Amino acid sequence: MTYRLFLAGLAMTLSLAGCATKPGGDASLKTGYAAEEPQHRPLKAHDRVEMEPTKWAGAELETRETDAWSGPHHLAGRTLEVSSLRDLKLANKEVILTFDDGPAPGKTERILSTLDKFGVKATFMMVGEMAEAHPATARKVFDDGDTIGSHTFRHPDLDKMSFDMAMAEIAKGENAVSKVIGTDVSFFRFPYLADSKRLREAVSARDLVIMDVDIDSKDYFNTTPAAVVTRTMDQLQHRGHGIILMHDIHSRTATMLPTLLSRLESGGYKVVTLKFHRGSAPASNLVAQADLKMTR
Ligand SMILES: [Zn+2]
Repeated sequence: MTYRLFLAGLAMTLSLAGCATKPGGDASLKTGYAAEEPQHRPLKAHDRVEMEPTKWAGAELETRETDAWSGPHHLAGRTLEVSSLRDLKLANKEVILTFDDGPAPGKTERILSTLDKFGVKATFMMVGEMAEAHPATARKVFDDGDTIGSHTFRHPDLDKMSFDMAMAEIAKGENAVSKVIGTDVSFFRFPYLADSKRLREAVSARDLVIMDVDIDSKDYFNTTPAAVVTRTMDQLQHRGHGIILMHDIHSRTATMLPTLLSRLESGGYKVVTLKFHRGSAPASNLVAQADLKMTR
């Protein structure tokens, strides 16, 4: 019920934004956002009141966060131990939160603080160069008990590189992140999700679990924090569960996260903590194991 109300409110906001946009003017999403500012159109007595409208304004959202999202929370789900991609199976209403491209000082810490408030853990797919540039932030993520993966060293499109260059990028990223946090990293995500069958097989043979994406928050689009929440929840409603892609290098992501977690919680979702577990090779993994020996 609340979600429908939320959607209705959002539809109204969007239509207002459309009305407020000058004909022939810049109808970009950013203009739409500016048009949402309440002072341009004060609510009248007969207008529907949007759910928690103040929470949708970026700056205000931050300062009100503590009061609005205080616990107790029941968002934390089970811990899922995986040794290969095939173990990464989620039940209905289960999600894994992932943040790519960091660490980014300030933003990553804000995200950590929100995760802590809700009592959940996420997986941070760090870019090697970023981890080297911001080692203290990378270590904060690790010390906080979140899961860490790598995301290449310089974030190139691996599909556009030679196989050897691509593998070198992957290894360099993995080593850089691993060195900064002082332990192995066992998860990997392809930048731009640009993979190939050959690269996927080679990455798996390195004993890395590939992190695919089920739900793309598209938080890299220049939209409002609210739009990121809506887009994510819409996809999740259709799919029922999944790995959510976000980025800890964007302010809007840090800003919208309390709202997203609040929506997940009220929607009955559970945030699964992901851990790598070096398993004894089952029969089905024998081929990959054989490749591994040959590669190393
Ligand atoms: Zn990325």
